[in-house]
Amino acid sequence: MHKKIFRSSLLTVCLVLIATIALIMGFLFHFFEKQIQAELANEAGFLAQAVENEGIGYFDGFDDKNSRPSRNNRVTWIGKDGTVLFDSRVDASELDNHADRDEIKTAMKDGKGMSTRYSKTLTEKTVNYAIRLSDGSVLRVSTEQYTVITILMGMLQPILITISVALILTLALSARVSKAIIEPVNRLDLDVPENNDTYEELTPLLRKIANQKETIEEQLADARKNQKEFNLITENMSEGFLVIDADANLLTYNSAALNLLEITPPADRSVLLFCRAKEFRGVISDALSGIRAEDIMARDEHSYSLIANPVFEGETVIGAVVVILDITEREKRDTLRREFTANVSHELKTPLTSISGFAELMKAGDVPEKDVVDFSESIYDEAQRLITLVNDIIKISELDGQSIPFESEPVDLYELSKEVIGRLENEAEKRQVTFHLIGDRAEIMGVYKILEEMLYNLCDNAIKYNKENGTVDVLVNQTGDSVNVIVRDTGMGISPAHQGRVFERFYRVDKSHSKKVGGTGLGLAIVKHGAMYHHAKISLESTVDVGTAITIAFAKI
Ligand code: ADP
Repeated sequence: MHKKIFRSSLLTVCLVLIATIALIMGFLFHFFEKQIQAELANEAGFLAQAVENEGIGYFDGFDDKNSRPSRNNRVTWIGKDGTVLFDSRVDASELDNHADRDEIKTAMKDGKGMSTRYSKTLTEKTVNYAIRLSDGSVLRVSTEQYTVITILMGMLQPILITISVALILTLALSARVSKAIIEPVNRLDLDVPENNDTYEELTPLLRKIANQKETIEEQLADARKNQKEFNLITENMSEGFLVIDADANLLTYNSAALNLLEITPPADRSVLLFCRAKEFRGVISDALSGIRAEDIMARDEHSYSLIANPVFEGETVIGAVVVILDITEREKRDTLRREFTANVSHELKTPLTSISGFAELMKAGDVPEKDVVDFSESIYDEAQRLITLVNDIIKISELDGQSIPFESEPVDLYELSKEVIGRLENEAEKRQVTFHLIGDRAEIMGVYKILEEMLYNLCDNAIKYNKENGTVDVLVNQTGDSVNVIVRDTGMGISPAHQGRVFERFYRVDKSHSKKVGGTGLGLAIVKHGAMYHHAKISLESTVDVGTAITIAFAKI
C-alpha cells in the first residue's frame, strides 16, 4: 500500500508537471503569435500608407533604420497581377509570381489576408500579413517565428532541470506523504476494530471487520465444541477409528487406533505407509474405490477386525472411515469353543461306544449267562460316567455363558467345607484317606451352589489323587483382606510342566488314571470358572510324590 501510494503520487505529480509545462508553453506560444500578428498588421498598415503616398520611391531609402518599424521583417510589394515589384530581401526579378499565395489571394479579394507557412523541418514558421493598396497591388509583411519544436529544443535544458528538481522534491514528499497516510492504517488494532480513532472513510470497513470477527469467533467456538464432543466420543471408544482422505492421508484418528496398530503417525502421511499389512491395504483400497470392505488382520498374537466404509460427496469418493476392533479374545473364545465341542464329542463317544458294544453282544446272545451281570455292570458304569460327564458339561456351560442368573448370599466357608467333607466321607474311607478340617467361621458373599461344587471338586481330587493312608487338610482362614480355603493332600503331586495346564478343560496329567478314578477332566476347569465368577484368586503348589495344595482366596465382605 505504501509503495502504491508512493507510485501513484509520483505519477500524478509527473503528469501534472508535464501538463502544466505543455499548457504554459501553449498559452505563451499563442500569446506571442497574436502579438506578432498585431505587430505585422501595424507595420503593414504603416508601410501601406507610406507606399500609397510615395509609390515605389519609398523603398529607395528602405534600408534606413528609421524608415520602417522593424528591420527584421521582410517586406514584399506585389503587383495587381501577382508580379513581385519589390522585396526587401531578394531581388524582385528573381521571384516568381505570387498571385497564388494564400495571403495575397485573400488580400486581393478581401483587402487583407494572413497566412502561416512552415519550413520543411518544421523548425521555423513564417507569418505573412498582406494588405491591398488602392491601386489593387498588395503589400506583404512577413516575419519568422520559432515553432513549438524549436522552442522545446531551446528550452530542453531548463525543462529537464525543472522536471528533475520537481521529481526529487516529489520523491521526498511522496515518501513522507504516503508514510503519513499509511501510519494510521498500520496503527489499527483489529482485535477491537471499532475502538480505533482513524480515517472516517475506514469506519464502515472496521464495522464490517468487527461483525465478521464476531461471526468467526462464534463459528470457532461451535467448531471447538464439536471437536471436543467428537474427541470425547472417539477417545472413549475401545475401537480404533481412522478417517482418511481420497489419497489415503490420515485426517483424524483416535488413540485406540494408534495403540491397536502400534504406530505413531506423523501428520499428513498416507496410512498405507505406517501399516503395510496386506489386509489393511486391501480394505483401504476397496473403500477408496467406493466399496465397503471388511477383513481380519493378524498381528503378533492379536487378531483385528477391519471395517472400512467409503465417504462420498455426490458420486465421488472423498475419503474413508476405518474402524479397527481387537477381536483377539473373541477369536480365542471361538477356538476354545471349537476345541471344547471336539473334546466333548470325543469324551462322549468313548463310553457310548463301550455301552453300544456291550449291548450289541448281549443282544446277539453271545454273552454267557454268568457274565451278564458283569456286562450289565460295565454298561451301568459307562452310563454313570456319561451322566457325570454330562453334568460337568452342564455346570461348566452354565458358568461359562453365565446364562443362568445366580443369586449371591452370605456363605460360611467353614460350614460349607464341613458339609462337603461329610458328603465325601464314604469315598475317603474307601480309599483310606483321612480329612482334617482346620479353621474357623469365615463368611463371604457368594453363590452357594457354585462354591459347593468348587470345594467338592477340590476335595474329590485330593482323595482321587492321594496315596493309601493319605490325608487331606481343608484350611479355612483369613489373611489381610482375603478369606482363604486351602485343600492340601499328601498325594502324587503334579509336576511343574503340568501345573499351568490342569485348569484347562479336559486336561489330565494321566488320562487312564483319571478315568480309572472316575475323572472327567472338567473338575478343575469348573473350579477355575467358579473362582472367576467370584473374582477369587487360585494358586497351586505341588510337589510330585509329596502332595498338592490348592488355595482359593476370596475378597472379604
Ligand atoms: P479329573 O476329572 O481328571 O480329575 P480335573 O480337572 O479335576 O480332572 O483335574 C485335571 C487333572 O489334574 C487330573 O486329571 C489330574 O491329573 C490332575 N490333578 C487334579 N488334582 C490333583 C491333585 N490333588 N493331585 C494330583 N493331581 C491332580
